[in-house]
Formats: sequence, structure tokens, C-alpha cells
Amino acid sequence: TLEPLYIITPTYRRPEQIPELTRMSHTLMLVKNVHWLVIEDATVTTKQVTRLLERTGLKFEHLTAPMPEKYKQKKGAKPRGVSNRNRGLQWIRANATNGVFYFADDDNTYDIALFDEIRKTKRVSMFPVGLCTKFGLSSPIIKNGKFVGFYDGWIAGRKFPVDMAGFAVSVKFLLQRPNATMPFKAGYEEDGFLKSLVPFEPKDIEFLADNCTRVLAWHTQTKKNEPSAPLNMKLYGETNLV
Ligand code: UDP
Ligand code: MN
Repeated sequence: TLEPLYIITPTYRRPEQIPELTRMSHTLMLVKNVHWLVIEDATVTTKQVTRLLERTGLKFEHLTAPMPEKYKQKKGAKPRGVSNRNRGLQWIRANATNGVFYFADDDNTYDIALFDEIRKTKRVSMFPVGLCTKFGLSSPIIKNGKFVGFYDGWIAGRKFPVDMAGFAVSVKFLLQRPNATMPFKAGYEEDGFLKSLVPFEPKDIEFLADNCTRVLAWHTQTKKNEPSAPLNMKLYGETNLV
């Protein structure tokens, strides 16, 4: 039998939220034995999100985990989605026993073939992410079948210079590491989390997607939209205005 795939998705209220989650849910509806953990950066769940989740027929949890005030008030880069992902880890520790989890932001694009790849994860797997950084790609580099380093437009002293969408972790592997956590450190969330999975070294990485030669996830970003005028609300019925 197929072990569960836990998809941890941070999300927050904005005009793009429902369209992003609609697109993502339609991808996940094509994947078997998915359990979607949708975690809002908010103190209460958004009704429109709950309805969307119910309509998918997917197995899901709808949780909240607001970004702490001290980070919200900080100017410059904020640790986006970190409280949400740590809430997801907490849920996995309390409820999951096997399978694999994956941090999947609501605005990325995922090929359904990615999920078949991720299921192979025994410890921590890695794979390419397209449209990522100024290089347009973030990926482990495999030469003649051997891992030789990371390709990423922003190495920044990271031990694991990878994108959030570029790795998956076995639930059992996480459960054996009770101190694993994602730091509230903008730009260093992935590296900090992967480093917290001790013992775990680059030699332990499992490379997926045909030895990292196929791009199955893209770091797409939707342009910010103005909230629609109140007049349009009648036309579109329910809206998701902030
Ligand atoms: N996010 C969040 N709170 C915020 C900003 C973002 O929960 O204040 C979520 C967002 O929905 C996404 C993830 O955190 O799933 C990463 O955010 P974003 O896509 O804006 O980051 P980027 O792609 O620019 O790195
Ligand atoms: Mn994004």
C-alpha cells in the first residue's frame, strides 16, 4: 500500500490566495494518498479557504500559525511561512508515523510526476527547482553519477543552498530528530532546517528526478493584484477581499 504524502503549504490572505490554492489543489487532486496540511499565517482560518478545501475531496488539515509580531514589524526581508511550516512539523510529530513530507508554497507550480519521485524518499531527497534565483535554476549538480555541489544563484555561505521546493523528508527520519526546526531567518530557512536534521550530511542526500536532470517544480511568482472594487463583488459572488 502507498504511504501517505504530507504536503505542508503555508498561505496567507491576499487577493491571489484563492486562485493560487485553486491551482495547487487541482494539481494535488491528481495525486494518490495525499494529505494536505494548509496552514494560514493568521489567527483564524479563512472561510473561503475552508470551502475550497472541502470542495477538493482531498484529505486535509486547515490550521493557523501567525507570524510572530516581532518579525511582522521588521523592515526588509521577513521569514515568510516559517511559523506555518513549523506548525506543520508539529502536526506531523503528533499525528504521522510514516510516509514523506514536502514543503510546498501555495504559489509554486508542480508537475504531478514530482510526487511519484518524492515518494521514494528514505531520508532526505533533493531535486531541481526551475525559475529560481537569478540563475533560473536551483539544483544539486551530479557529474558522472556523483554529487559535486550545488548550483544556485545565491550560495550565501549556506551548507545546503537549495530552495524550499527542492527537497523532501521521510516522516520516520524527522521523528528520529525531535529538535529539527525551521529558523526565523530570512533567506536561511531551508539551510537552517536541513542543518537541524542532525546527523545529516550532503553524502546522505538521495537525488531524484533522474539524477536531478528533470525540472518538476518551479518557483513561479504571481504578480501582486489590486483588490477588486466592491462593485465587482456582486458579479463574482463570493470574493476573497482582505
Ligand atoms: N506566506 C505567509 N505569510 C506571509 C508571506 C508569505 O504565510 O506574510 C507564505 C506564502 O503563501 C508562501 C510562502 O509563505 O506559501 C512563501 O512566501 P512567498 O511565496 O511570498 O515567498 P517567495 O516565493 O517570494 O520566496
Ligand atoms: Mn513564492
